[in-house]
Amino acid sequence: AFNFCAGPAALPEAVLQQAQADLVDWQGRGCSVMEMSHRGKDFVRIAEEAEQDLRDLLGVPDNYKVLFLQGGATLQFAQVPLNLLRGNASADYVCTGVWSEKAIAEARKLGGVNVVASDEANNFRAVPSLSAWTPDRDAAYLHYTPNETIHGVEFDFIPDTAALYGRDVPLVADYSSSILSEPLDVSKFGLIYAGAQKNIGPAGIVVVIVREDLLGQVPAGTPTMLDYAVAAKNGSMYNTPPTFSWYLAGLVFKWLKQQGGLAAMAEVNARKAARLYAAIDGSDFYGNPVALPNRSRMNVPFTLADAGLEKTFLAEADARGLINLAGHRSVGGMRASLYNAVPEAAVEALTAFMADFEQRHG
Ligand code: PLP
Repeated sequence: AFNFCAGPAALPEAVLQQAQADLVDWQGRGCSVMEMSHRGKDFVRIAEEAEQDLRDLLGVPDNYKVLFLQGGATLQFAQVPLNLLRGNASADYVCTGVWSEKAIAEARKLGGVNVVASDEANNFRAVPSLSAWTPDRDAAYLHYTPNETIHGVEFDFIPDTAALYGRDVPLVADYSSSILSEPLDVSKFGLIYAGAQKNIGPAGIVVVIVREDLLGQVPAGTPTMLDYAVAAKNGSMYNTPPTFSWYLAGLVFKWLKQQGGLAAMAEVNARKAARLYAAIDGSDFYGNPVALPNRSRMNVPFTLADAGLEKTFLAEADARGLINLAGHRSVGGMRASLYNAVPEAAVEALTAFMADFEQRHG
């Protein structure tokens, strides 16, 4: 089957095969990779290699910590303000969809939030034009969601905080659904976080990449596990980490290197998305409402002109091995997620099915 799930998403087949072998007997050690101490030398090597491979792929500068944490991107919605708000300050947030809204709601519990720009009135179909942004010059940081997984809206630029604020305001990004899909200049960010279950590995881990000077400023009373500085000081092993997820993420990083790294992935991802959008735009039978420059390369929502045919579309697609194409429950319709592990052949099969379905039902 070709799996278009938005998350937990498809993993590379080669990675799953390797994991299958290591699950029973890790490198002849007589135990599974899930059954070894996280402090033993075997797992410490797995963990260190995973971090190094991720650093290599993204070119993470030396003055950034890479953390492997728990609680998903959702806990980051709270952990970011806890660590970066510094007392009573307020932070700036751009609102481009459901995930931005959730991040904003959580930050509001912990301090002030200024929504710099929102596309809500437009039903989240575009990134608001920079000329309409209203930054608060005292903001502790600027938060945005480069790729909105549900609405399929992706930024076509990285906000330049020096230009917006006239000073170094840390840029914070929820990269959950587009990290590792193309090269990224990490030095432009104060902090990046990404839940693993799309382009990194299985669920259970969230990667945080944070500039060192932003660490160690949590208010008194902050729970130990929510202080980035504690995680950094303990190599993300203050408590028992999700070892299997970490190990599998490491295999995915090695697979990405074998594919030629992020520049190579970016080319393939661009081709996949272009092919699917061309199929949608090529007929009145299918539609996608997102403004052209902001169409997501990773998550492609689409509708049928006759919404009454959706169930049939999904059932027929499923029967042909094109699985997990239902849109998010909050918006309906269809959604094809095209993360790194989704091969070009999957998009070929999907577009062929779409043409055939239209011919029979259009
Ligand atoms: N942010 C984005 C952009 C997402 O797509 C998701 C999940 O799909 C989340 C946050 C929430 O992630 P988690 O379920 O790991 O907390």
